[in-house]
Amino acid sequence: MAPSNTSIKLVRNIPSGTPTLDDFRIESIETPTKDLLKPNQVLVRTLYLSCDPYFRGRLTGTRDSYVASFAPGKPIEGLGVGIVEASTSSKFNEGDLVTGGSFLWETRFVLSESEITKVPSNTGISPANYLGVLGMPSFTAYVGLVSLCSPKAGETILVSAASGAVGQMVVQLAKARGLRVIGAAGSDDKVDFVKSLGADVVFNYKTCGSLQETVKKAAPQGIDIYFDNVGGELLDVALSSMRFNGRIAACGMISQYNATPETAYRIKNLVNIVPKKVSIFGFIVTDYYGKPDYKNFIDEVSASLQQGKVQYKLDEVAGLENAPQALLDLFEGKNFGKRVVKVTDTNQRL
Ligand code: NAP
Repeated sequence: MAPSNTSIKLVRNIPSGTPTLDDFRIESIETPTKDLLKPNQVLVRTLYLSCDPYFRGRLTGTRDSYVASFAPGKPIEGLGVGIVEASTSSKFNEGDLVTGGSFLWETRFVLSESEITKVPSNTGISPANYLGVLGMPSFTAYVGLVSLCSPKAGETILVSAASGAVGQMVVQLAKARGLRVIGAAGSDDKVDFVKSLGADVVFNYKTCGSLQETVKKAAPQGIDIYFDNVGGELLDVALSSMRFNGRIAACGMISQYNATPETAYRIKNLVNIVPKKVSIFGFIVTDYYGKPDYKNFIDEVSASLQQGKVQYKLDEVAGLENAPQALLDLFEGKNFGKRVVKVTDTNQRL
């Protein structure tokens, strides 16, 4: 485990291409103490941090995005779950379990009360679930599938990165609505896992041969919904396989996040969206937290969890010092399920 207070900082922005461990620096820094707190602040000890593909955009240094870039010399920040160790806020007490999107990649740090929300503790479920099955990736699956693509029983859906943080929930939400689900995943273990979630056909896109023929065989009548997590060639194949009035949830295009202008995949089948009347929904999940969709999602998934009707695979890496590699692994498919970093234990004291 990391020493008492570790900070993971960005060394330089990486506009394109593949980031490496040299782009991050692990520093030992002073541990913040209670006397440093200004009014309405909390001192948080990190339990879990979330590794997410959207970090790649935040590494670029661009200002033209829905979310600010990470700055060289500053700590990485993102979603996390932690325990309040000291508070000057009337809203939070020592021992509260909290989550937020501005968690620093540090063992302990100070946030203002407006940057965190409480989550239930002593429920018997791991706090990491608030970064997974009850967190952002699952809600992303709900928004892309349910809110935007209006799935109907009997339709056929293709899901890419189907074993991942978002994909595994898309598969289950779609099955619960009576769809025929086709999943794509990058290893045989992942294929088996997606089948265990109830998917009807799952293929390993790295070893299946022609993607076009594989999708044709899996969906001879075509696809009604494509939930796109990867972009690139599979998106192109899906575009050529859509049925009339098909919908595409443009959730993410991870295959292109490390691309350079020279290596970027050129889509060839976009022309099909006109005669097939295909709708493509680009979306960012954070736009939906204030809408009824969020309550609907929490109601449905909490109930399914309690009834044992939903599974969710977490992929836990131990130690804050391993967080940069844990993040870089996402772009090589080395995660299996929702990748989180365990920073400290729930009952560890200051
Ligand atoms: P994830 O699926 O848990 O992890 C990423 C997976 O992507 C890898 O495990 C790998 O799975 C696949 N992958 C990596 N490089 C690839 C490549 N070159 N070609 C094809 N597949 C590749 O990640 P996640 O958190 O669920 O995110 C999935 C997608 O959703 C990402 O594109 C992300 O940006 C997007 N997203 C969007 C929103 C939104 O608001 N729109 C919110 C959250 C996530 P395989 O081994 O199966 O290839």
